Amino acid sequence: MTTLLIATRNAHKVREIQAILGAEFRCLTLKEFPAAPPVVEDAETFAGNATKKAVELARWLMGQPSTLNLQSSMPNYVLADDSGLEVDALNGAPGVHSARFAALDKSENSHDADNNAKLLRLLKDVPLEKRTGRFRCVIALVPVPAEKIESASPVCYADEFEPQLFDGACEGRIQFSASGAGGFGYDPLFVPNGHTQSFAELGEEVKNQLSHRAQALAKLKKFLTR
Ligand code: IMP
Repeated sequence: MTTLLIATRNAHKVREIQAILGAEFRCLTLKEFPAAPPVVEDAETFAGNATKKAVELARWLMGQPSTLNLQSSMPNYVLADDSGLEVDALNGAPGVHSARFAALDKSENSHDADNNAKLLRLLKDVPLEKRTGRFRCVIALVPVPAEKIESASPVCYADEFEPQLFDGACEGRIQFSASGAGGFGYDPLFVPNGHTQSFAELGEEVKNQLSHRAQALAKLKKFLTR
């Protein structure tokens, strides 16, 4: 079985990733690796941030003492998802700043409710036909070379972490008010094309068929099972 370390502390994302990938993949999270250092997401693109998260975590993993590495939970890959919402009427914002949109001057993430309130405020005079946008997701996958782990110096192998990138986008529009209790982030505001309900109303099963994350993970799954 392939074991993946998901480079996120977002429990919603992990749940979606595990549900989409299915039982043939074992997903570990940063909960199992509490000493993993936080990664500053300061790249200007989703690909840049996903790569940074995956590579820094894989590099940290390689530098861990063999006692940790020998645990049965050692992952085969590090997987990092960077994602967000692009709104056309806002020239692509919040984009890579989606998680901390309500307080862009702060480095920590904002509450979902505050991000959603800001988005609705900025779009208050924008008519329905111009409220188009998309969720975008880029996933970086970095292999953890098991045979090198015990003797590796994190510096020696720094250049060997070559990420494989997978992307996905889900087109839709932003509602005038929030609806639904499922999902996370901007889900209560986002209505995917072809539907009349928000991601938060449509529920996990529907969202996981058509979301940006589902599309990127379908490509990743194809790559890993090729
Ligand atoms: P990241 O953890 O830096 O990738 O931040 C992603 C942010 O984008 C989240 O905090 C959400 O605000 C937003 N986001 C990404 N994917 C989704 C989704 O599937 N639904 C709703 N919001 C999302």
